[in-house]
Amino acid sequence: MKRPSRDPGTAIKLNLRREVNFGCPVRHKDGSGCGCPILTFHHFDPPWAGNYLHNPEGMIALCPHHHNQADGGLWSNEQLRIMKKSPFVDDVLRVQWPWQPESLVIKVGASLVVGSGSPFRLDGLPVLHFYPEEIEDLGISTVTFDSDIRDANRKSWLKIKDSYFDLRLKNTTNVIFSAQTKTFLAKHNDNTYISLRFKKYTFGEYKAWLESFMPNPEIAVSAYNSTEKVGAVDSDGNVSVILFEGCFKTHKVGLSVKKDKIHFESYLPGRFESFEMGTTIVSAEHRAIMRMHNGPEFFSLG
Ligand SMILES: [Zn+2]
Repeated sequence: MKRPSRDPGTAIKLNLRREVNFGCPVRHKDGSGCGCPILTFHHFDPPWAGNYLHNPEGMIALCPHHHNQADGGLWSNEQLRIMKKSPFVDDVLRVQWPWQPESLVIKVGASLVVGSGSPFRLDGLPVLHFYPEEIEDLGISTVTFDSDIRDANRKSWLKIKDSYFDLRLKNTTNVIFSAQTKTFLAKHNDNTYISLRFKKYTFGEYKAWLESFMPNPEIAVSAYNSTEKVGAVDSDGNVSVILFEGCFKTHKVGLSVKKDKIHFESYLPGRFESFEMGTTIVSAEHRAIMRMHNGPEFFSLG
């Protein structure tokens, strides 16, 4: 007989992540705890070996480090059941961003944000703003993120300050943070979501990758030239890339980014619009801005 997969499937995994508020539930005596959002799934009642059963009541989401300790028998079944009921993370998931490249390019639709900037701004607020920074104490350079991502009611949802992410869990329906697949996903129950995937290319691979989704070869050439010019190539000669997707709404505009497409909608009276955006290369000097009759900016790229 074929042994069933150790992976319990999407629905059980989502429930187990939700149960611990999307962070490792291990608490310490002094009131601190783990809270790591990279979660794996531990079978304790019954144990996986010899049983090969997925019993959600006898499973718990733990970070890889604490999963190892649980496999070693550090906690009793009763202790694990208590952790499931009263996890460490409460209403905000606080994550120190584990991925800090020297330099960065963000792909949004078929457009690129090179070196610094933000995939876009809504109501003047950046969505995933980043900039290079020298950390003198450590003698390294790294990219720092700073953002205020809001839900459709313009309430603060995902705040990023000095590369710490604070995600409000009220109304959050899913969070996936995977180290193996280098993926981050957060979903709000109003359809707002953000999905990030991390890639690293050699400069040669980067050129080929740009040509694979930029319809115009001249734009691809100018994209890799500007990547070199603004110094978005790291000291090993690699380009770090974030593939950005998501859905965001304000009272004035709606934006959906999926693969190579950005779909833009405006709900402004007298200016109802709906279109797909083409390829733009955006850097600190070059931003695409939309405003109403010279009024305040309601949407911009970069
Ligand atoms: Zn942990």
